[in-house]
Amino acid sequence: MAEIRVEQLRKAFGDFIAVQNSNFVVEDGEFFVMLGPSGCGKTTTLRMIAGLELPTSGRILLGGEDVSQKRARERDIAFVFQLFALYPHMNVRRNIGFPLLAQGMPKAEIRARVEEVARLLRIDHLLDKPVSGLAGGDRQRVALGRAIVRRPKCFLMDEPLGTLDAEFRDLMVHELRELHNRIHATTVYVTHDQHEAMAMADKIAVMNHGVIEQFGTPQEIYDRPATMFVADFIGSPPMNFLKFGATLARGDRKVGVQGAEIVIPELHEDGGEAEYALGIRPEHIRFDDGSKLRGAVYGAEYLGTTQVVAVETADGMLKARIPADVPVKVGEQVGLSLNGPRLSVFDKASGRALR
Ligand code: ATP
Repeated sequence: MAEIRVEQLRKAFGDFIAVQNSNFVVEDGEFFVMLGPSGCGKTTTLRMIAGLELPTSGRILLGGEDVSQKRARERDIAFVFQLFALYPHMNVRRNIGFPLLAQGMPKAEIRARVEEVARLLRIDHLLDKPVSGLAGGDRQRVALGRAIVRRPKCFLMDEPLGTLDAEFRDLMVHELRELHNRIHATTVYVTHDQHEAMAMADKIAVMNHGVIEQFGTPQEIYDRPATMFVADFIGSPPMNFLKFGATLARGDRKVGVQGAEIVIPELHEDGGEAEYALGIRPEHIRFDDGSKLRGAVYGAEYLGTTQVVAVETADGMLKARIPADVPVKVGEQVGLSLNGPRLSVFDKASGRALR
């Protein structure tokens, strides 16, 4: 079992708190992504799991064992920084086997393990080739092979694709997830890139200022963001917000915005009298002449099958993702209808979603 359990984990550097009371569980075999902007505490969390940084307080359990005070090399973890660093003067076999050689494993065993890993990555036909002559994708597979050959309990990856160009990155996102589907090693992956996170993760923690704002599946995070920060960080373009003042109570199913009555998912808590923000994903807005919610078309971005149209309303700009064949004219007045069951309501002061 390689479950990772993080309890009340905290890290302070002097007066600065880099990670505040984090709690999460990565189940055995899960691909877990920590996502957030630069400086939010992802790397610090990862380094604490790896044992490269000691927590100020809180605990880390690996497979049920408290490793909080253990050194990195006592934790049976593979830390992958960047995937492409290979030894250029060695062939594929020696590149993959290097970590085992360094451990002093007998040659015959190394040979067997390297061949197994090469088959898994479908590069067994390249074993005796020099890495210098390999195509980019194969080089990445060799680098991955070197990380998995030790059979660590779990993998920790810190922006491993960070320096790759976009096309290559997409390929590696796909390869990493495919590899994970075959070996099911518990993985913690750090990135600031929402597309990588959405494409690879079983679970995501979205972090901001040292705090986990939401922990959940990619779909939960996209469909039911817990905070305005998450709603804004995920999605391209991000979620729209329409501001309104109201008194909201448990059981409410409607809000009034600009004279339009807008259906919302039933509220299960009281909000009281406050400023709120209605959160709407661009794909949940339609053009609708009959709607009281209106605005002027500001511009449109053509994306092939869809277009993203910016509409200026009395309460700010809304971006709607609509079919590309709907005719739009800049300056034209349009009505907008919102897909009620897919809306979120946030308390503006705290940024928290009302459920
Ligand atoms: P990035 O993607 O930029 O690495 P991150 O989310 O991984 O961002 P961390 O590297 O965890 O963020 O850093 C969180 C905060 O803690 C940052 O403000 C950083 O400056 C601070 N920090 C990290 N390590 C130290 C340290 N050794 N001493 C002081 N402050 C630190």
